[in-house]
Amino acid sequence: MATLAPPSALRGFSGPDTPPDDIIARCVQCGFCLPTCPTYRLTYNEASSPRGRIHLMRSVANGRLGLDAGVFRDQMYQCLNCRACEAVCPSGVAYGQLVEPARAQIERHLPRPAWERLLRLIVFGHLFGDMRLFRLFSLATAVYQKSGLRALARASGVLKLLRLEDQEGLLPEVPLNAVVPVGQRWLPPDGNVRHRVGLFTGCVMSTAFAGTDRATVRVLARNGCEVIAAAGQGCCGALAIHAGEPDIGRVCAQRNIAAFEEQGLDAIIINSAGCGAALKEYPHLFHDDPEWEARAVRFSGAVKDASEYLDQIDLTPPGPLPKTVTYQEPCHLAHAQRITAAPRRLMAAIPGLRLVEMEDSSLCCGSAGIYNVTNPDFSQRLQERKIDNALATGAGTIVSANPGCIMQVASGLRRRGAAVRVQHLMDLLDEAYGSV
Ligand code: SF4
Ligand code: SF4
Repeated sequence: MATLAPPSALRGFSGPDTPPDDIIARCVQCGFCLPTCPTYRLTYNEASSPRGRIHLMRSVANGRLGLDAGVFRDQMYQCLNCRACEAVCPSGVAYGQLVEPARAQIERHLPRPAWERLLRLIVFGHLFGDMRLFRLFSLATAVYQKSGLRALARASGVLKLLRLEDQEGLLPEVPLNAVVPVGQRWLPPDGNVRHRVGLFTGCVMSTAFAGTDRATVRVLARNGCEVIAAAGQGCCGALAIHAGEPDIGRVCAQRNIAAFEEQGLDAIIINSAGCGAALKEYPHLFHDDPEWEARAVRFSGAVKDASEYLDQIDLTPPGPLPKTVTYQEPCHLAHAQRITAAPRRLMAAIPGLRLVEMEDSSLCCGSAGIYNVTNPDFSQRLQERKIDNALATGAGTIVSANPGCIMQVASGLRRRGAAVRVQHLMDLLDEAYGSV
């Protein structure tokens, strides 16, 4: 007798971190999400759409499809986890709460080759899990870039030989001096403290984008904030969680929750959209642990994107900046955190600044954590679409609020030889305050 699915011992999800049945059941297959999905727009293939992927999850959950079916694994990882589908879903399907556990199930039940498992442990568990190691790696990258080694590697063709040319081109200019959170406090320049906030310094933000972390402190201080960089904090764990490694994510979450607890803060400020979404969703990691879930709820309730917070307080008027900008919306700010108006209101508060909207400003740029490394073809096609749309505005600066987007857009501009700058929103505001 013919069977609908290939034979497999891996039927259904099992163990911790399973896609919740009630969220899967909420999808009524209306298809409203399809036009928002970047992979569907590239392929027009139903399996590459949110509806198609939820159907695959439902098929695995009820045993009609094996967890080891190639189409399931491929689609869970072809998805960018950009969450554009979630933001438009009329049934309220929390797609992010489906795809991350679906990947965790794949990683738990379908072992990768030993070398891949080792690489994932080194990258997610050790490099991003230990900020001392991460800062050392960043310092080595800065030395590589500034010492002439980079020029040598590029000219010799060794990067091409190792197929690392594209990945190397994504790296921003890494400064030599990182922001190391050891409990330092910064005060408003006029000494008038109106708010007391913590700064989540981040891993990539505190190293490759250390200048943006410092600019964020200056902007917050200009707005009456005492800013505290709590000691003991580290990477948010988002990359590991998105890659199906929630156990590593939980270790990161517990470290960060403990670091910011008992500090008496009005808010915990984050300037990276991807990290902010992960920090706000820490409670999902602790459904089986009521004590940590309660601590995570308190922590996540205090987390604010820097633009969200500045938009909520009485903004100190920035100085004039006569330039034209366009805004690349980070997916995890627009779709996961639903913050779209605040960054635009902050830009509108800068006298002389002209914001020209690009087409599809909230369509993923193809960065999506490590997607530009794991799915280079789709990533590059989305990057090219983003660069086309940004350049069509004629703006001299592309503003964003996430390190991954900034690196992806900057590398696309470099490839085109376009003399357009990419700037983090906090750097833009800092520049405006500097001009007062
Ligand atoms: S919009 Fe929501 S309910 Fe409709 S197909 Fe997409 S995920 Fe399902
Ligand atoms: S998260 Fe993004 S890529 Fe994935 S299904 Fe939803 S819209 Fe498509």
